[in-house]
Amino acid sequence: MNDLSALLYLVASVLFILALKGLSSPETARRGNIYGIVGMVLAIITTLVMPSINSHGMILLGIMIGGIIGTGIAQKIAMTAMPQLVAGFHSLVGLAAVLIASAALWSPESYGIGNSGSIHVGSLVEMSLGAVIGAITFTGSIIAFAKLQGLISGKPLRFSGQNMLNALLGLSLLLFLILFCFSEAKIIFILMVFIALALGVLLIVPIGGADMPVVVSMLNSYSGWAASGIGFTLGNPLLIITGALVGASGAILSYIMCKAMNRSIINVIFGGFGSNSGAAGGAGAASADDRPIKSGSAEDAAFLLKNSSSVIIVPGYGMAVAQAQHALREMAEELEREGVKVRYAIHPVAGRMPGHMNVLLAEANVPYDSVVELEEINNDFLTTDVAFVIGANDVTNPAAKSNPSSPIYGMPVLDVGAAKTVIFIKRGMAAGYAGIENELFYQDNTMMLFGDAKKVTEALVKSLKG
Ligand code: NAP
Repeated sequence: MNDLSALLYLVASVLFILALKGLSSPETARRGNIYGIVGMVLAIITTLVMPSINSHGMILLGIMIGGIIGTGIAQKIAMTAMPQLVAGFHSLVGLAAVLIASAALWSPESYGIGNSGSIHVGSLVEMSLGAVIGAITFTGSIIAFAKLQGLISGKPLRFSGQNMLNALLGLSLLLFLILFCFSEAKIIFILMVFIALALGVLLIVPIGGADMPVVVSMLNSYSGWAASGIGFTLGNPLLIITGALVGASGAILSYIMCKAMNRSIINVIFGGFGSNSGAAGGAGAASADDRPIKSGSAEDAAFLLKNSSSVIIVPGYGMAVAQAQHALREMAEELEREGVKVRYAIHPVAGRMPGHMNVLLAEANVPYDSVVELEEINNDFLTTDVAFVIGANDVTNPAAKSNPSSPIYGMPVLDVGAAKTVIFIKRGMAAGYAGIENELFYQDNTMMLFGDAKKVTEALVKSLKG
């Protein structure tokens, strides 16, 4: 039985690795998801039939309750609220790690890790690491959720001596961890958990709204390591492997996102990025600028698009909010029928979550080969007739290159201004996520097309068909 379950766990682990590989590209993401589902079903069944498991009723009840709640949330959740949903789920993983470590400490016999007062040192190390990382993940994720959901301000909350306090708490955690492993004293364990809970809050409150996606992916990584630590306590190799996979992939994603936003992880954790942007974290400030702009109608834009030979569409957060992706695909098809070459340029942090634009375009059946990443397409704007920017702002803002005091300075941006004509679809002159003005709106070759992204695109399609 042990050999069989070890083999099945190995198969499930391979499926999880294939799932991660599949999720790394839009073409293979669906297949990746299926690998993940099959791996998880196999893992659950293998665990349930193990001789050491004797509370099937309770486990099935838990799966049922969790499954019903999860399905309800997944069906209702808006794509734009995905980051806070992920943060909310991570908090539960963290809490589970704390609870399992506590249960193992209070009842070590049930876990086969020794007797009360003489738990194996290795198990004490594993359970304390699981509990500490879990507690940091729990409160950190709750703060991230509250910031993203707008329950508390998205602005960085900083006070003097903050980093020193965090460093002191970190050091005391290390000290208590060593003391606990030598003494097995429950009071030290409780102290450790409380310090870790406080540290979770303190680590996340100084982080600005614009860096939240990186934080969510870092918390994802922490939750994986916490689960891995608990896998050791429970003697479950699959949990160790799965936790390590989540931990490593979350860390890699954080690194990739930091690179896309030109930030270092250390800067994200200690920098309070977004503090000088004013509106970082949501509502864009209206422009006080009264310089002239050129605005046009859907008919004007349709005329321009139809008479061009190449168009690059740049989708952003506004497209996601308006759910304009289907109308956009229809518009692209109309243009292609007219012989126009149409491609989509994807910025790595466009929208509000990693891969946001890819998911929406895939949902609208936009062909994968016309969706191109920033590095591959950026030089092509120079030779493009129309850059069609729909609900995107920060990811096109040249201030990222020209203004060292800008909160997005250093972030690679799409060079839409280099195209012959730039069309911006947005509702007004409001700023984007980083709360800063975009000089491109006032450029000679720019035409503003005001309105809701979906309604305007539908009007455009009608005009193109007409
Ligand atoms: P953005 O800078 O937030 O700009 C979106 C624009 O869409 C706004 O200026 C808004 O202008 C317009 N808009 C909103 N609703 C609209 C609607 N219904 N119809 C038409 N336009 C609408 O978006 P972005 O260019 O995609 O840049 C993403 C930003 O979010 C970056 O700063 C990034 O760092 C940050 N971020 C990214 C992630 C991620 O993981 N991708 C997560 C969190 C934050 P109006 O109000 O005038 O319409």
